Amino acid sequence: MRYNKIRKMDISNGPGVRVSIFMQGCTFNCKACFNPETHDFNGGKEFNDEVINEVLELCKDDSIVGLSILGGEPMHPNNIEGTTKLAKKFKEEYPNKTIWTWTGFLFDRDLKDKEVLKYIDVLVDGQFVEELKDPRLKYSGSSNQRVIDVQKSLKENKIVEIKNIN
Ligand code: SF4
Repeated sequence: MRYNKIRKMDISNGPGVRVSIFMQGCTFNCKACFNPETHDFNGGKEFNDEVINEVLELCKDDSIVGLSILGGEPMHPNNIEGTTKLAKKFKEEYPNKTIWTWTGFLFDRDLKDKEVLKYIDVLVDGQFVEELKDPRLKYSGSSNQRVIDVQKSLKENKIVEIKNIN
């Protein structure tokens, strides 16, 4: 598995100041994707325990409120194992910081039985659809994408979306 880049202080992917990691590889090929350089599974750099430790170290700072995991596609079968490992370790170390994740897969159709959801606070799901693009949306690109409270959704066994996010 490979990743594309790490942002040490990101204020545009989730609330507050966060560390972001962009995983490498995606097969969705959404029209007008914002990140085409992340599609090739052979691009980017190797994702290994050293990278996980680097991310955890960057998240230590009190000003960092959480970790954002984007892509590429962090939930693609090639990538989900590494994403799960990172998310698990992050939550063990920082139970009070949040994980936000973006995916082209759907929570209820594709992901609800996956271990990784145990560690994620918010999942923005669904492919980007150019025709539904809405620049007023704060954390998604198109109106079909849902901002999901993962822990509440698992508990209540239904999709609980977060609306009116500031
Ligand atoms: S799922 Fe994300 S990275 Fe993949 S093609 Fe769509 S917008 Fe681009």
